[in-house]
Amino acid sequence: MESLEKEADFSCAICLLMVCEPVQLKCYHVFCKFCLEKLRENDPNDFLCPLCRNPINLQFKILTSKTLENEFLTNTKEIYQKRLKEVENLRSEDNFFEKIKVFYGNTHEKEENLNNHNKHKWTFFVRGDTKSKFKIRDVIKKVEIELDPSFGGVSINLKGEPFEITRKGFAEFTLIFKIFWQKWLKLEPMTLFEYHLNFQKEISKRIHIIKINKELLKSILNKN
Ligand SMILES: [Zn+2]
Ligand SMILES: [Zn+2]
Repeated sequence: MESLEKEADFSCAICLLMVCEPVQLKCYHVFCKFCLEKLRENDPNDFLCPLCRNPINLQFKILTSKTLENEFLTNTKEIYQKRLKEVENLRSEDNFFEKIKVFYGNTHEKEENLNNHNKHKWTFFVRGDTKSKFKIRDVIKKVEIELDPSFGGVSINLKGEPFEITRKGFAEFTLIFKIFWQKWLKLEPMTLFEYHLNFQKEISKRIHIIKINKELLKSILNKN
């Protein structure tokens, strides 16, 4: 029991709550089963331990460690049972929604033999999930991007696919962009994002997930 006392607040580094249905990875880090399932579902190509960045095998069976769970049940029974209930609710909520993934990020290439400072060629993109039944244009009406003032301080309006811009520059910076969603999604019309360009990798990306009520989706598909 000493091990548990040392980590009295056994919190999950993904949801920051008390670990629920604990799963221990090869690197010994422990997360909620539900959180790991989400992580794998969101970006299977980037399934890494959030703490030490060790790759997790995609075939890895996400199973609750019964030994750990019993420790939780013995030591923090009430809190733990509350967490189980919460996760159960999240799981059932999931069944009502269809999730659409939107990826944003940048690619990067360094042009060493250029004679000026702007050696970094980058493309900022907003893309859909190639496996999804929705095309990105079904989901996004336009993307508005505000670059660093050194690029002249204008905002760029991308009104159709591809939602991408390519530029050359001398350093990374944070850009601000707005995604205007298609009306049928019945979302807030616009979402504001910040993204810091990454020149350390060939490609870096993040994910944004929109949830569409399945009933709404059905009624729209029936109309067409
Ligand atoms: Zn968690
Ligand atoms: Zn780890």
